[in-house]
Amino acid sequence: MQKKTDILSQNGSARTHKQRLRWLLGISSIPLFSIIAAFGIAPQALPLNVPITEVIEEVALPATLESSEDAAANSLPLWQVDQVRRDDTLSSLLDRINIHNPEAVAFLRQAPEARAFATQLRPGHPLLTKTTPQGELLELQFQIDVNHALVVKKSANGYQAQEMPLILENRVLVKSAEIRSSLFAATDEADIPDQVAMQLADIFSSEIDFNLDLRKGDRFTVVYEASFSNGELVKTGRVLSTEFINQGKALSAVLYRDPNDRENYYTPDGKSLHKAFLRSPLEFSRISSGFSLARFHPILQTWRAHKGVDYAAPIGTRVKAVADATVTFVGIQGGYGNVVILQHASGISTVYGHLSRFASGLRKGQKIAQGEAVGFVGMTGLATGPHLHYEFRVHGEHRDPLKVALPTAVPLPAELRADFNEQSQPLVAQLDLLRGSNLASME
Ligand SMILES: [Zn+2]
Repeated sequence: MQKKTDILSQNGSARTHKQRLRWLLGISSIPLFSIIAAFGIAPQALPLNVPITEVIEEVALPATLESSEDAAANSLPLWQVDQVRRDDTLSSLLDRINIHNPEAVAFLRQAPEARAFATQLRPGHPLLTKTTPQGELLELQFQIDVNHALVVKKSANGYQAQEMPLILENRVLVKSAEIRSSLFAATDEADIPDQVAMQLADIFSSEIDFNLDLRKGDRFTVVYEASFSNGELVKTGRVLSTEFINQGKALSAVLYRDPNDRENYYTPDGKSLHKAFLRSPLEFSRISSGFSLARFHPILQTWRAHKGVDYAAPIGTRVKAVADATVTFVGIQGGYGNVVILQHASGISTVYGHLSRFASGLRKGQKIAQGEAVGFVGMTGLATGPHLHYEFRVHGEHRDPLKVALPTAVPLPAELRADFNEQSQPLVAQLDLLRGSNLASME
């Protein structure tokens, strides 16, 4: 119970925290935290991370606000946190972070040991600087990748640079969101990384067609791993558990690692979520999602009219084999344009039409695995706009792919049941608690 409250409060204050922290660092002269421990200290040494709550309390006092004149008078160094912006050049960045002494500028531009700084200015990468009020660089910490930072320091012999491992703080985050327009609009609003949204779509790919099945009012909760450095998210990890309420129907998933270290998602009662068939042949992405929701309905034709389902999507969107199969046709066929036909087990075949192009090397007789590309969305053949025409046939008879009952998953082997229960029980309990608190907050 206690644990859950902690997670939720951390999570709820994340956005405000970030804004206040930036503001604080701009005005403070105290080195509140550091990307890594100082030079010469082993990576295991205690990181100087200050607890979030204390930082906020300190800034809340207007008295700590110092004008630059005050700081100059005190000659106290200024710590500043920033990040690389999309249109930054080395010059614009150095200007913004107040590095003006020629020696530092030359070092950062030319020194081989500082090369990572000048050559890896990727948007979003955080950096922390310590300068004198006159713009002389004392120290710079720049995050190179998810695991490393470059640290530049001024010493008696001039500047020195060294790559250091980042000290990451791993957290488990819990977030909930409600869908109003699209999954990505909901995840953006809740500050959930795209990578988590994609994992959700993947976990439920045999249950929910994320391009067609989502409805306004659908809700989800997701528990996932994240690594932070300096309060900045640097790495998103695995989804540990999730509950998705789609059109009033609740689906839950928990991650289970079997004794052979294979990780898969299961329902709380031990049914695998990995099934023989995917619900959708279209790769779900930020682009296909926005496109479908905005433009799908005018193009949607009824099942009765042409015995297939049309997925409006931008040209080039990846089209996937919905199940393991043998390719039985690759080529042009009348109104279908470029079409691929796959033969699956149990007499099931699937058809993918109007493709702009085929997956490279795809040929008749080839085996293809579930999720592999068969081709890319186009508008070849009789198509009024870019879309995928998809058919599902059982023993040659057309079935509505949106309604057809798909083969069920292989259940968890009995001998793993006890191990599964032990691992999943806390995750399931957490989802239950969250469901309770979500309901309470909506009342
Ligand atoms: Zn069609």
